Amino acid sequence: MRAHDVKEILIDKATIARRVDGLVDDIAAESPGNLVVVGILKGSFMFLADLMRSFYRHDVHPRIDFLTLSSYGSGTSSSGKVEIIHDIREEIVGADVLLVDDILDTGHTLAFTKKLLSGYGARSVRTCVLLDKKAHRTIEFEADYAGFLVDDHFVVGYGLDYNNLYRELPHIAKVRFLD
Ligand code: 5GP
Ligand code: MG
Repeated sequence: MRAHDVKEILIDKATIARRVDGLVDDIAAESPGNLVVVGILKGSFMFLADLMRSFYRHDVHPRIDFLTLSSYGSGTSSSGKVEIIHDIREEIVGADVLLVDDILDTGHTLAFTKKLLSGYGARSVRTCVLLDKKAHRTIEFEADYAGFLVDDHFVVGYGLDYNNLYRELPHIAKVRFLD
């Protein structure tokens, strides 16, 4: 792991909380019938938990499941290859799936996963990310719901990690490499 610090806060806790409620207002407004929220682990866990709590305000009661995909390993750039480590167990035939990830970067992860879940027979698969690094896309892909646009630098916190560290930060911080 390279020498680094994570002192610079990019998006604070209160700003995230407001945006999460805003996203859920938009999602609930499209009144999905048979909603299943599917989170991509591990990065989405905190975002997904807050999204779920926010659905309560709309009296929406989604089912929930997770899938685990291969990660970046110890690096900070995507290989473009996506592998399923643990698949969903929930029945999603005919369901309206909301696929949740922490950050949309090259686009490979969500493009792959959206196709996978559509193939399982979901009626619709919409995608929701907290962060969108638009400038870093290598394939054409846009999320249906995105919390914040971020520039092309490596970020951690609120579920996002560097070498599986810093997921506990209640805010999004920028990783500054010192070497
Ligand atoms: P994509 O397949 O769109 O390139 O990558 C999405 C995945 O890359 C995310 O689920 C996330 O795990 C990881 N990722 C991309 N950018 C960052 C970043 O700035 N920080 C962290 N911690 N993970 C990132
Ligand atoms: Mg991830």
